[in-house]
Amino acid sequence: VWHTVNVDLGDRSYDILIGPGVLSEAGKHIESIFGKRDFFLISDSNCYDLLGHDLEAMLNGEGLSVKSIVFPAGEQSKNLKQVEDITRRLVELGADRQSVILALGGGVTGDVAGFVASIYMRGIPFIQIPTTLLAQVDSSVGGKTGVDLPEGKNLVGTFYQPRLVLSDIGVLATLPQKELNNGLAEVIKYGAIWDADFFAFLEKNHEGCKNLEPEVIAYIVKRSCEIKAQVVALDEKEGDLRRILNFGHTIGHAIEASSNFSITHGEAVAIGMVAAGRISMEKGLLAQDDFNRLTNLIKDLGLPHTVPASTSPEDILVKIRHDKKAKGGRVHFVLLEGIGKTVITPEVTDEDVLKSISG
Ligand code: NAD
Ligand code: ZN
Repeated sequence: VWHTVNVDLGDRSYDILIGPGVLSEAGKHIESIFGKRDFFLISDSNCYDLLGHDLEAMLNGEGLSVKSIVFPAGEQSKNLKQVEDITRRLVELGADRQSVILALGGGVTGDVAGFVASIYMRGIPFIQIPTTLLAQVDSSVGGKTGVDLPEGKNLVGTFYQPRLVLSDIGVLATLPQKELNNGLAEVIKYGAIWDADFFAFLEKNHEGCKNLEPEVIAYIVKRSCEIKAQVVALDEKEGDLRRILNFGHTIGHAIEASSNFSITHGEAVAIGMVAAGRISMEKGLLAQDDFNRLTNLIKDLGLPHTVPASTSPEDILVKIRHDKKAKGGRVHFVLLEGIGKTVITPEVTDEDVLKSISG
């Protein structure tokens, strides 16, 4: 373990352990919190084959009782039917109120297994073992769990904190490039909204980052977790601070939807951050030089910065309006006043948006 980040939420505080080889020490960490109980490993099919099978065997070999529940990989599994299947399987396998869930996988697994943990027998403890960069820097921090409905994403869910997060950066070696990029977009976001030094670190280490240099990746995961944890903890007191985590997401979500999800979340957020940066600059909030730094970092990390020709700006605008209606008529834009400094404003017009995405 190279870094430990404590997520400070009073009586629901927990640690995130980060480093290479964390998974090989999982038994020790799990046992130190729970002793010997019945553990249920929930994992998607890819992660079970890559990592779960070995983890289950290792933990059983160390005298911990682990049984696995595997579901098909992909966002399509994030639904209520899957929740029913998994909970019924838990009953069948004899899980009770003392049992502990281990969620091994990306954001989909964390969201589904965390949701199951929050409602099974009115809630049993769970441990997150995130295996994508996105899950390590974003979805495993903050306690949001849930599933999609046919009507939309993440419409059913709970706030439920894990008791421990084990982030083994070694597992990222098998992650496809596009999945890595998904996480990198959120990482750039943390620097842009909160921490100019971290942003400068990313500028300096973009090669090491793309090459998955362990020191660079471990630091990135640590700093990202710290920033999200800090925002989430402050938000419990300050109300809407958490909104700044939506930087790049208002336009990003619209781009994702408008491309019929052929553009990934990370790519769309990258384009959305550049668009929000341009709006900030047009409004005289952000210096040209800082806008250029944002655009260049996004390019250096291999992410797109312009809307592809196949996607129509007008359609993106329609999607943003749709989002606005769903949220009761107001969309709050997160803009930048500099690297590491945000301002939230409803004063962004359709023309501002159109101009920002029309190159
Ligand atoms: P994912 O969980 O579907 O993982 C992406 C793909 O990578 C899957 O096919 C998975 O099987 C595979 N994979 C996972 N780990 C791997 C590894 N080490 N090597 C090779 N392949 C691996 O997707 P994701 O991007 O991790 O998460 C996206 C989900 O997270 C969305 O449903 C989103 O809504 C959710 N999310 C939740 C929060 C939150 O706060 N709870 C925040 C952001 C996103
Ligand atoms: Zn995101």
